[in-house]
Amino acid sequence: MTGFFTVSIRRYYPYWKLVLAVLLFIVGMIEWHQSEAVSLRGGTNPQITWYVKTTHKVVALTFDDGPWKSSTPKILHILKTHHAVATFFVIGQQVLRNPQIVQQEIHDKMEVGNHTYSHINLARHSLSEDVADLKKANETIKKVTGITPTLLRTPYGTYNKVVLQAAQMTHLHIVMWSWTEDTRDWSNPGVETIVSRVLSHIQPGDIVLFHDGGSNRRQTIEALPIILKDLTLRGYRFVTVSQLMKMQ
Ligand SMILES: [Zn+2]
Repeated sequence: MTGFFTVSIRRYYPYWKLVLAVLLFIVGMIEWHQSEAVSLRGGTNPQITWYVKTTHKVVALTFDDGPWKSSTPKILHILKTHHAVATFFVIGQQVLRNPQIVQQEIHDKMEVGNHTYSHINLARHSLSEDVADLKKANETIKKVTGITPTLLRTPYGTYNKVVLQAAQMTHLHIVMWSWTEDTRDWSNPGVETIVSRVLSHIQPGDIVLFHDGGSNRRQTIEALPIILKDLTLRGYRFVTVSQLMKMQ
């Protein structure tokens, strides 16, 4: 028996080496793919959130640049119909133009975040200018809703050391969006494109970027119910960014 066993091992030994090499290669590929998949969702700066690692089947929908009379109330209605909440990163100046809409957002259990007072590119301004703008937006939101925001989405998604410092000084945590979940709806790419940009890569803990202001948001408004229905069927729940951050 021993002789037979030794012969068998010798006979197959070269293949085992090959099998081991193939296995190691596969494991390496999986590891590499997983690390790639994670990095494709967002950056690694601990002061910024792009997504949340969670096992819960939840996503956070976010809307920038509002409130706008022609789109925000319609979006709120759609969200309510689907028992969904979302986060609205509002512009201070727009809040002053449409205070009732922001009040409605709070009434509907949405989260309201800071998107600056005047939609300035924070990375191109000084620290004192950034702080002044962010404070003004915080104060405007507080005056209208009674709530001081804790989250900041920077216009154009830009940031640098100065922006990070300004956010810290105004007690705001920067929230971007998952890189695979940028609808680019501001460019009106078509309802189907917006829908597929969200649905084709969605993962638990993702933060999806839409706009409820800036220009005509008809496509966003048409895409939203399709996205909500599909994700609900897949077992997803919709939470605000602050709720999502507690689920990691
Ligand atoms: Zn914006």
